[in-house]
Amino acid sequence: MKIKFLGTAAAEGVPAIGCKCRVCTLSRALGGRNMRSRSQALINGELLIEFNPDTLWHSHAFGFDLSEIDHCLITHSHPDHLYPDDIDNYRRDFCHGRERVMNFYAAEDGFNKINEVSLRPHMGGAVKAHLIEVGKLFTVDGKYTVMPLRASHNAETSPVFYSIGCNGKKILYAHDTCYFPEEAWELLKGEGRFDLISLDCTGCLGLDGHKYLRHMTFPMCLDVIKRMEETGLIDGKTVKVVNHFSHNGGQTYDEMREEADKHGVVVSYDGLEIEV
Ligand SMILES: [Zn+2]
Ligand SMILES: [Zn+2]
Ligand SMILES: [Zn+2]
Repeated sequence: MKIKFLGTAAAEGVPAIGCKCRVCTLSRALGGRNMRSRSQALINGELLIEFNPDTLWHSHAFGFDLSEIDHCLITHSHPDHLYPDDIDNYRRDFCHGRERVMNFYAAEDGFNKINEVSLRPHMGGAVKAHLIEVGKLFTVDGKYTVMPLRASHNAETSPVFYSIGCNGKKILYAHDTCYFPEEAWELLKGEGRFDLISLDCTGCLGLDGHKYLRHMTFPMCLDVIKRMEETGLIDGKTVKVVNHFSHNGGQTYDEMREEADKHGVVVSYDGLEIEV
């Protein structure tokens, strides 16, 4: 399986809108991997994860054709992960020459938001919302097996994170969530070994004094990694990635690398592609 990280920032982006903090100022000056758009990923060039306000820009910047993509997993309904206004642009009278259906998979709140758009008369069946539930395995495009796990995040957004399997390979995409709830650990027992994990690292190195209750910091990611190693969910060959960074956390890409390298953890950046 191939995963491409299209965007790797939290909601505000890095540098953030209107911000002059140290991270944003430094990131603007350094450019390159320090510049982050909102989190989104693409599996095997065909399965999107998230549909945020940077989706169109990602398709232009990274050269993938949205008219050829029919499936998108949504983790929760926060606007940096789900932007319903752009889903409306799939309407048949705007989207010429495409007769296929764009399928979105989301738990309750995200489902309701997508479903409301999909039922508008001008949509003409161009979009279909699929309601998914924690612990209920589902199949996408006849080849991806997807298990939604309960995320520890704002409950009103119906947050889940995903275990995604294809051709004997497995990826865990865990954003946005704090340290996994016990319910998720229980379900993970049945998921076997992961080839790649991507963990929420909104709080960067966790030196800002903020108590992260709905996201993680790098030390919290290391706690998750330790437990996953101890329970056989990952091993020395598993690629471990941290992702979804906020300027509020306090470190640039370069500064994150210094620490993550010591632990064999990959710091994601926009455009990073990994095949497992
Ligand atoms: Zn987010
Ligand atoms: Zn900033
Ligand atoms: Zn969120």
